[in-house]
Amino acid sequence: MRRLLAVFISFIALCTATAPAWAQRVRVVTTFSVLADIVRNVGGDAVELTNLVGPNADAHVYEPTPADARAMARAQVVIVNGLGFEGWLDRLIAASGYRGEVLVASKSITPRMLGDHPDPHAWQNLANGQIYVSNIQRALIKAAPLYASAIRQRGERYTAALQALEQEVRDAFAKLAPEARRVVTSHDAFGYFGAAYGIEFVAPQGWSTESEASARDVARIVQQIRTQRVRALFVENITDARLIKRIQAEAGGVIGATLYSDALSAPGTSADTYIKMFRHNAQALSAALRANPLVSR
Ligand SMILES: [Zn+2]
Repeated sequence: MRRLLAVFISFIALCTATAPAWAQRVRVVTTFSVLADIVRNVGGDAVELTNLVGPNADAHVYEPTPADARAMARAQVVIVNGLGFEGWLDRLIAASGYRGEVLVASKSITPRMLGDHPDPHAWQNLANGQIYVSNIQRALIKAAPLYASAIRQRGERYTAALQALEQEVRDAFAKLAPEARRVVTSHDAFGYFGAAYGIEFVAPQGWSTESEASARDVARIVQQIRTQRVRALFVENITDARLIKRIQAEAGGVIGATLYSDALSAPGTSADTYIKMFRHNAQALSAALRANPLVSR
């Protein structure tokens, strides 16, 4: 009888793109806003989501709260970026007593190494974003099999949107001269973006915002800006603008629109989803690089 019921349930699940109303939603915790948006797109109403590090907030230096530990204790799936992005994660998991699955969304991407540390900002390449989607899709289907076909459909649609955006981003940079492809940002968050779309990012601060840029790092960047005639400087939404302003005061150049590196913008604003954030960054970069009179053709 039980077997018959199981067959009947999976038959219903196969027939309907949306799961039956009585199917349990999966309680998911994500660590930061970019992941939360991807999970919402793939999971839809199969997921009851709690996100820890919100819009415009810096996950590198985040300090988890007791409410975070409580959310984690209730979770069925915890989804993290990995690659050393969430330095506070292991302590939080231990404090919460969570023993369920921890899905590393960046699993099986090819990491970019910075010395002996992987660069954690893998979502800044849309090809990696698609790997995040497929990892997340698999984990959600496993946790909520009754929603499997709906999750699969949503995942496919979202992947197609990311692929279309990839082409759009390539087009935005297609006509730039090789010497017009250099940009300064405050921390080293755009290495994957740069490698994927042919832009060279220079940053005084390393891959984490935890350690401040030294006077020597700043002097090196100022020198580089002068010799390579870099004109485009960018402030990131999660970092203090003063560092870039100081560099501009010494080296010149123009500060472009804010770039979204490690967090989305507030809900209802121009970079409040992964797709909108990526498009915003590509447009801001391409506008600033095209405006450089020293290198434009
Ligand atoms: Zn970062």
